[in-house]
Amino acid sequence: MYNNFTNLDLIILFFRSLTITYICILVVSCTSEITKKSPKAVLVIHGGAGWISKGSVSDSMEQAYVNTLEKALLKGRKIIKNNGSSLNAVQAAIEHLEDSPLFNAGKGSVFTFDETNEMDSALMDGATTNAGAATGISTIKNPIQVARAILDHSVHVFLSGSGAEAFALKKGLTQVEPSYFFTQNNYDNLLKAKASMEEVKQNKLGTVGAVALDKNGNLAAGTSTGGMTNKRFGRIGDTPIIGAGTYAENGVCGISATGHGEYFIRYVVAHDIAARIKYANQSIEQASTEVIETLKSKGGLGGVIGLDATGTVVMPFNTEGMFRGYISLDGDPVVALYKEDEMAKP
Ligand code: ASP
Repeated sequence: MYNNFTNLDLIILFFRSLTITYICILVVSCTSEITKKSPKAVLVIHGGAGWISKGSVSDSMEQAYVNTLEKALLKGRKIIKNNGSSLNAVQAAIEHLEDSPLFNAGKGSVFTFDETNEMDSALMDGATTNAGAATGISTIKNPIQVARAILDHSVHVFLSGSGAEAFALKKGLTQVEPSYFFTQNNYDNLLKAKASMEEVKQNKLGTVGAVALDKNGNLAAGTSTGGMTNKRFGRIGDTPIIGAGTYAENGVCGISATGHGEYFIRYVVAHDIAARIKYANQSIEQASTEVIETLKSKGGLGGVIGLDATGTVVMPFNTEGMFRGYISLDGDPVVALYKEDEMAKP
């Protein structure tokens, strides 16, 4: 009896310790999984890439750019902190930049050859791969809202010109006089570009974009621009072309581009980065760096910002500067303007 009890006891003990070991392994692997998956950054933004080098912008202007980028990051992050969606965070950050005359989007959009403003925008939801894009917007105050309205309410993905504006008005978006988009600096740049017979001018920074990763692991990306100074004949850049200037897919990455749009369209930049991650198992760092380097070798100037599914931030560019920044769930905004600016990793 005594011996039988001991044997039973041993068997129970054996299974108990097996269960405890199993639970321990489960807890450790779950914890490391959480650590591995906890996002490094939740929002990354850009304010355009171009040939603006250190010293070419006054200190007060530099400070104004930094302040506006920081505020956009804080506005977007607040939404994610409050359990909001990455889509809402991207939209809020972009709206803030569109409302500033400093960036080539919304209020600060550059002029076409015909002395008008024709804005492009796009927004993509990585959770559903639903997208909305607009081109040739000239009287809606925040073009990113047109992209959002299309994403939310249209059976189509990409609307243009008067049709896009009619749809936006039907959805109650704010309309402004075309003169709202007048800035003296952009108008002077147009006159200079015309005088030098430049078809397009690529030294102006300013297109804006954002990529966010929310608490549910959903990625979203958006981009908004006035395009390129002196553009004509209804030219459309890469910004509103899903896969060229804007792309998001959960589990893969979110990307927003800025630069010479014709090259970003031809090399399908944003989707090329996603495809390398998805099909070739590249990291977002390798994929984005290689794509931007290849682009340079073909003559395409610009850069991208991006986040992968774990919140890894990338910001490669092949110009003198790219206005850029990121923010994590709890840290301060981190912003940089020029090539030589060091940025701490999140
Ligand atoms: N990519 C934009 C376009 O080509 C311009 C820019 O990013 O500066 O329209």
